[in-house]
Amino acid sequence: MQIKILNIISNQDSENYVVDFATEFGSGRGEWNGDPPVISHSYEVEFEIKEDLVWGESIVQVEHEQIPPIKYQDNVLTLYGKLEAVYPDGGADIRIGHSILMVVTVGSLPEINSSVQIRSKRTIIFPYDKDDILPETYDHQQSVKVFTPKSYREYLNRFGQTIEEYARLYELDLKHKTREHKLSDQEQLRRIAWRAGISLAELKRSNRPELEKMDKVQYQQSLLRQEYFHRLPVHLLAQCPYCGTHILQPVDTFSLMGFYPLLNVTELYRGPGWVSDPPFWQHCRHFVVVTFSVNLNNLTPDDLPFWALRRKWLKMDSAPRVMVWPLIAGQTSAVIHALPVGRLDEPELLHSYTIYFITYFADDQTNLYSEEMWVPADFRRPATDGVYYDLDLIKWLEAGRLFWLNPDKFERTLMRGPVEVFPYANIQPQGWYEIIEDGRIDGPKSYHATWQGPALPPEQSYPKTVE
Ligand SMILES: [Zn+2]
Repeated sequence: MQIKILNIISNQDSENYVVDFATEFGSGRGEWNGDPPVISHSYEVEFEIKEDLVWGESIVQVEHEQIPPIKYQDNVLTLYGKLEAVYPDGGADIRIGHSILMVVTVGSLPEINSSVQIRSKRTIIFPYDKDDILPETYDHQQSVKVFTPKSYREYLNRFGQTIEEYARLYELDLKHKTREHKLSDQEQLRRIAWRAGISLAELKRSNRPELEKMDKVQYQQSLLRQEYFHRLPVHLLAQCPYCGTHILQPVDTFSLMGFYPLLNVTELYRGPGWVSDPPFWQHCRHFVVVTFSVNLNNLTPDDLPFWALRRKWLKMDSAPRVMVWPLIAGQTSAVIHALPVGRLDEPELLHSYTIYFITYFADDQTNLYSEEMWVPADFRRPATDGVYYDLDLIKWLEAGRLFWLNPDKFERTLMRGPVEVFPYANIQPQGWYEIIEDGRIDGPKSYHATWQGPALPPEQSYPKTVE
């Protein structure tokens, strides 16, 4: 059955996550047995009722099924379905929509095709094809030396191999999965599982030998990703205008692969894989967020490896733009800086593309995090009426909200003016684009709307633009 994760609830009593989910047959709650689920993602799953159902008590015959067939109330998951098959050992198949739920029952069974109601206090959800293992440790002994252009390319080859291998296994597994769906004798499957002392879900898994290999490849990939972030050179992105701290972070300046979704630097901020051994980075308490734009300088990114272009790339902006929300609060500012990025088909590192970073800061007296800077009725979106960006950097510069790092390699001091020497005024082309097949570009496309409001001086703020 396909479910969509609505909410994840931590669970003290069990190692499993508890999730609220929705299906086309209603919604419910259950224990998740698999990798951490992702909210609003859909998964193909199997349910297992973690208790023997007693006829007349936790499973009863009803006049007719009710709508919705799945619901959750007072800590009980209620399921309505049709009794489709019964087995001498008390096993029963119950059809809910077009899925079959297999349960173990105690007591005398009603007739086939009866409508039944199940009330379960503990339901386990097994995600079908997403059961991978997360890395537990990261081996420090692995080569953690900063990449050279040569070792970087060798690294990408290794990473690409895992992507290819995973794709191959996925194809094979799909074939097995299709074959298994044709296996209609559920009783036979159940007996095999019972004899082997494993659950039916486990049995189905063992019938698909690729799954284990896929786990291994994925594990290898997660280690390779850790290696990647540890080996990237650390760059200065900004200096805090309030305390002077240098904002440092690993950045891939060898190629655009740093924007490949699986190697994107935003990975640094999420995922349990980093807790034990995060790569080096330095922020201060005033740091809010850093955003980036990538100017392709009229080049076509056809240097990217073909395996990386099979996946959808993030939308990117070709010119730097200001994110309005932090800057309409009091005592906030941003710092812009640029770094050159090379291409994979150049023998040495040249300045082919340009990344612009804009790092946002909030001073201790800011009202950025106060209620008035949000519109709670609007799903807690920033109070900017759905307009998030401004391309007019000069406006923010003149208001004393935007600064830049001196591009001089030896003197990366914070520059607050004058406007005449600002190096990033009106960079072209402006707009957003996507990297698609063969490294071709879709875009740049112009923005739907940009901020037309004022750039206020730091001591003023612009709360509650909309209600
Ligand atoms: Zn600071």
